[in-house]
Amino acid sequence: MTALAFPRTDAPRRTSDDERARILQNPGFGSSFTDHMAVARWTSESGWGGDGIVPFGPLTLSPASAVLHYAQEVFEGLKAFRHADGSIWSFRPEKNAERLQRSARRLALPELDTESFLASVRELVAADVDWVPDPAGEQSLYLRPFMYASEEFLGVRAALTVDYCVIASPAGSYFPRGVQPLVVWVTDTYARAGAGGTGAAKCGGNYASSLVGKQEAAEHGADEVMFLDSSTHTAIEELSGMNVFAVTDDGRLLTPRLTGSILEGVTRASILRLATDRGLEPVEERLELARVLEDVRAGRIREMFACGTAAVITPIGEFRTKDGTWTVGDGGSGEHTMALRELLTGIQYGRVEDRHGWLTRLV
Ligand SMILES: *Cc1c(COP(=O)(O)O)cnc(C)c1O
Repeated sequence: MTALAFPRTDAPRRTSDDERARILQNPGFGSSFTDHMAVARWTSESGWGGDGIVPFGPLTLSPASAVLHYAQEVFEGLKAFRHADGSIWSFRPEKNAERLQRSARRLALPELDTESFLASVRELVAADVDWVPDPAGEQSLYLRPFMYASEEFLGVRAALTVDYCVIASPAGSYFPRGVQPLVVWVTDTYARAGAGGTGAAKCGGNYASSLVGKQEAAEHGADEVMFLDSSTHTAIEELSGMNVFAVTDDGRLLTPRLTGSILEGVTRASILRLATDRGLEPVEERLELARVLEDVRAGRIREMFACGTAAVITPIGEFRTKDGTWTVGDGGSGEHTMALRELLTGIQYGRVEDRHGWLTRLV
C-alpha cells in the first residue's frame, strides 16, 4: 500500500490571530483545539482511504457505533516543539507510530503504516503551524492521534469500519501547579491491568478503569495514583498515565521491567538511554513496593519521578498508602530528576545536541 497523503481542505473560518494569541498565553492542557484535524477511514473491503486534513469539528457517529459500546479504541500522544529558529520538530514520532500499530493489534483494529502516521502528523502541523507555541515556558503543540470502531453494529466482533483521526491542542504544563513534586497514592483496591489484558496497549479502556483509582487518590489528598501488579499487589507497575523511576544512592536508575501489563513509554525508553549521560546505571527489574518504601525511608532511594509525553518528568515527593506516608528525599525536586528533565527537554527544544537522532523535522 502507498502511504496516505492527507491532502488539505482549508477551514473556511480560522480562529482569529487575537483569539489564538489569547489562548497561547495560557493554554493549559487539552482544552483548546486547532483549526484542523486529520482523518482517514479503514474498511475491511478497501483498506485505508478517505484521508485528509479537514476543518476541526464534530464527528458524525451512529449511536450504534461499536466503540460506544465495546470500547474498541486506541490512541497516541506526542508533541510538536518549536525551536528558536522557528522550525518545528517532533520527538521519536516513529515510536508512536509503532506503538499505535501494537495497540491496534491488541484491540483487533487495523494497523496504520508508519509513513501514513507520520504524514498525518506532518500535514496537520503544517496546516496549523501558527498554533505551535514559542518555546518559552516549555509550551508545545500536543498531538492526539486515535482510532476507533465506527461501524454501526451491535454484534460483538472486530469492527469492519474504523476511523482514524488526529487532533492538536496547544499545551502549557500538564500539571496546573507547574513542576512541583507529586503526592502519589498507592492503591491496593484497584489494578490497572492484568496478565493477558490490555495494559501494554494505549487504549481508552485502560484509562476508564483507572479513573476510580484517581478518585481514591484525590480522597487521600494525592495528585496521582500508583497501580501495583494485579496478581500479587506487591510490585510497582505505573501511574494511570505515566511510568515511574527511582534513583538510588549508589547511582542506579530503577524502573519496573516491562511485564506485559505496563505501558512502554517513549519517555521511559529515552530516559533509560539518557541515564548513562548522567553517570547513572539503568536497571529494569521487578520493584517490590515494600522494598522501595523501605529504601525511601532509609535514604537509599533518594529521588523518584514519573514520566510521560504530557508530563515530561515530574518528581514524586511523597507516597501515601493505607499504612502511612513516605517522603522521598527531602520531598522536593531531586538533582538527577531535574537534570534528566533538562536534558530531555533540551533535546526536544533544540537547546541540546540531538546525539541519538531522536528529532524529526515537521515544518
Ligand atoms: C502514554 C502512557 C505513558 C507514557 O508514555 P509516553 O510514550 O512516554 O508518553 C505511560 N503510561 C501509560 C498508561 C500511558 O498511557
